[in-house]
Amino acid sequence: MNVSLNKNNTTVARVKLLIGGEWVESQTTEWLDVVNPATQEVLAHVPFATAAEVDAAVAAAQKAFTTWRHTPIGVRMRIMLKLQALIREHSKRIAVVLSAEQGKTIADAEGDIFRGLEVVEHACSIGTLQMGEFAENVAGGVDTYTLRQPIGVCAGITPFNFPAMIPLWMFPMAIACGNTFVLKPSEQDPMSTMLLVELAVEAGVPAGVLNVVHGGKEVVDGICTHKDIKAVSFVGSTAVGTHVYDLAGKHGKRVQSMMGAKNHAVVLPDANREQTLNALVGAGFGAAGQRCMATSAVVMVGAAKQWIPDLKALAQKLKVNAGSEAGTDVGPVISRRAKQRILDLIESGVQEGATLELDGRNITVAGFEEGNFVGPTLFTGVTTDMQIYTQEIFGPVLVVLEVDTLDQAIALVNANPFGNGVGLFTQSGAAARKFQSEIDVGQVGINIPIPVPVPFFSFTGSRGSKLGDLGPYGKQVVQFYTQTKTVTSRWFDDDSVNDGVNTTINLR
Ligand code: NAD
Repeated sequence: MNVSLNKNNTTVARVKLLIGGEWVESQTTEWLDVVNPATQEVLAHVPFATAAEVDAAVAAAQKAFTTWRHTPIGVRMRIMLKLQALIREHSKRIAVVLSAEQGKTIADAEGDIFRGLEVVEHACSIGTLQMGEFAENVAGGVDTYTLRQPIGVCAGITPFNFPAMIPLWMFPMAIACGNTFVLKPSEQDPMSTMLLVELAVEAGVPAGVLNVVHGGKEVVDGICTHKDIKAVSFVGSTAVGTHVYDLAGKHGKRVQSMMGAKNHAVVLPDANREQTLNALVGAGFGAAGQRCMATSAVVMVGAAKQWIPDLKALAQKLKVNAGSEAGTDVGPVISRRAKQRILDLIESGVQEGATLELDGRNITVAGFEEGNFVGPTLFTGVTTDMQIYTQEIFGPVLVVLEVDTLDQAIALVNANPFGNGVGLFTQSGAAARKFQSEIDVGQVGINIPIPVPVPFFSFTGSRGSKLGDLGPYGKQVVQFYTQTKTVTSRWFDDDSVNDGVNTTINLR
């Protein structure tokens, strides 16, 4: 095992790099503590890899590509089948590590792993997913067909909030397509990601096909500018995602960049009241609001505004505690810095005139007094110019806006620059149909608060939440991780008629 929890803080593990099939201790002088956000216990040290180590990882991937690209599809599929079996077997063990380093509850950590596992299951179908197309007789005796070929060394850069699911969005599909991969996990919680990488190696991913480097800006920039990397998949904040998209794009790479969000829930007064309130509270405060698809803004339409006291009452019941403790609804946020940013934004809401209905500041959790806790926080009277609306807070803070009509709600959501997810709560099919047609957001839920598609569809955030055409997983990512070659062919019988020389463009 290359990473382990260290409850006594005696010998704190150093997270390794994976280069060419070897678990390597970085030669860097720059290390960061991986910290349990509920206790501040140092769980491990993570290196900021050197430029030479990034080069070595890419070189190993480049070398492995020469053979891996020709590996039969069945072999690649069987490795993915083995990987999914191993992830199932070790899910509970990994969830404990994930919860400790990230803060989310054990149940939510298992959900994080499960949503990634589903992508691995999807990768097991690569045989059909990577099939080309065939058209017979496009001209006399001529056939055209396409080959979906791997593109080479691909890289993935992942955020802290889903240390299992998001790496699993990336490397299994890239590898199953015949590419090799360099993964750069979040430096804030790399341990559970590394446990999944260990399982990939155990499943039979050959040396050099999957490599891991750790670090921050320098390593990311090294990846984005490396001449031998063909594609970069990024998930994280808008500021970094825009930078990655620009830099890697300028260096000739395919890039997909999945970025920040402000996800609205539009509530019509005819919605099922109890189910809607449950959904808003779960999606607003679950995972301490640190999901890219968390509901962060509620738009109450007309009489739905009368539900605000019930919303507040339900949010108040949530139990804030360490993710490791039974019955926890809301765990800590990832770091002290993240907590301070959330507190500053809450203060800005107060200063800018919103009504603070529920104040999650100044919360202490018995037994976890050092934890980065913010309790569920609810603002009403919010307007679209306030920072608590314009900024992605990424904490357990829900802001409520009020409008009179569905048209006004649609206009409000469409005027927001982000386009990751949106939900409509109603019992009206006609309203739902109008909404799904007119709303300019990539992932729409109808009475579903967090409409993240299952892996046989693709993740389709849009507008300010995404750069690049093709999203993670599903069919789109097979396009992203392959290049299409078109073959037009004609075969002659020995007794075929001599066509003679033709110097005109072929009119067929
Ligand atoms: P982040 O942008 O801070 O970090 C993401 C990755 O970029 C990390 O691996 C980090 O090491 C690297 N990085 C950080 N600063 C960098 C810099 N200056 N230059 C180059 N690389 C840098 O994001 P985070 O805080 O880890 O994750 C939270 C963000 O991710 C939120 O904005 C959330 O909405 C977003 N997110 C989006 C999706 C989606 O699918 N749209 C999914 C999950 C998270």
